[in-house]
Amino acid sequence: MIDPTVVRGVVLGGTGGVWQIRTERGETVDASLRGRLKKSNSGRRADGSLRRDTVSAAAQTLKLAVGDDVLLERAAPDDEWAIAEILPRRSQLARRSPGGGHGQRVLAANVDQVVVMFAAANPEPHPRMLDRFLVIAEANEIAARVIVNKVELIGEAAARSRFDVYERSGYPVHYTSVKTGVGLEAVRATLRGSRSVVTGPSGVGKSSLLNALFPGADLRVGAISESVNKGRHTTVGALMLPLPGDDGYVIDTPGLREVGLWSLPPDQLARCFPEMGGLADNCRFGDCRHVGEPGCAVREAIRTGAVSRERYSSYVQLLEELEAGH
Ligand code: GDP
Ligand code: ZN
Repeated sequence: MIDPTVVRGVVLGGTGGVWQIRTERGETVDASLRGRLKKSNSGRRADGSLRRDTVSAAAQTLKLAVGDDVLLERAAPDDEWAIAEILPRRSQLARRSPGGGHGQRVLAANVDQVVVMFAAANPEPHPRMLDRFLVIAEANEIAARVIVNKVELIGEAAARSRFDVYERSGYPVHYTSVKTGVGLEAVRATLRGSRSVVTGPSGVGKSSLLNALFPGADLRVGAISESVNKGRHTTVGALMLPLPGDDGYVIDTPGLREVGLWSLPPDQLARCFPEMGGLADNCRFGDCRHVGEPGCAVREAIRTGAVSRERYSSYVQLLEELEAGH
């Protein structure tokens, strides 16, 4: 059989030089980026057709990231693959550098959802850290959901009362136990067919859960990257892991766990708390920071219980950090 010269694929990993690409034929191949594409979007639509606004699209700089859809090309079956086109992104998970500027690092492209995993106990859940992950997802306009694993350690009722606030804030929450099998099927259903960033502290059971859901796929999220990143100045990039049958991908983004390097304009923080974002329109002052101004609808909602004190205290803590960084 003669190889086609152009094949579509998705970037699984790589750093600058050689990239690992999963092709639509279900193979993983190495490919390098063509010089002329290193800084520009070629102006094609996701289906490969040319866009009308090719000139402006080409002017916009686009660095290749894990999760990017690409077209690979080679002249002959024995040649190396080259990345000939970077197709337009549906979404991206990016971190802005503190202090403004245009320093933005794209952690992953075409992310459908961010799945934040904590344990009900062992390790003890850290709500401020959970809120931070959710804010990063909101700031990038990517859907987020929460998994609370190890529920058998404290019982599902206790776990639910602790994480109920997230459901009330609009996030789907899954209560799971890899140990007893509780809740696993619903998580498998949400991962299938999607490109999901799976994150959370180490030890909560991310690798155990993924391997229970997809036995034999050898999905280790977090563990490798954390040890590999130790002592490095720059974080090793994200890694995308195909689920069996290429029916969805799990993305491991070590950069998401470096909390210190992330930034957001302070006045955009409230909208990253869905239960607060809509209220801000009702505040007396248009530039209300929701920290003691008179006629503040967010603080009124805390009095009525519509916004939880814990989530609000995360807001205040993050606001102080963001304001200090600007
Ligand atoms: P990761 O660092 O998030 O990938 O966590 P691991 O998958 O390595 O799991 C950390 C530890 O938690 C391991 O000892 C697992 O056996 C254990 N573990 C995972 N899921 C559960 C669970 O549902 N219940 C209990 N009790 N332990 C679990
Ligand atoms: Zn306000």
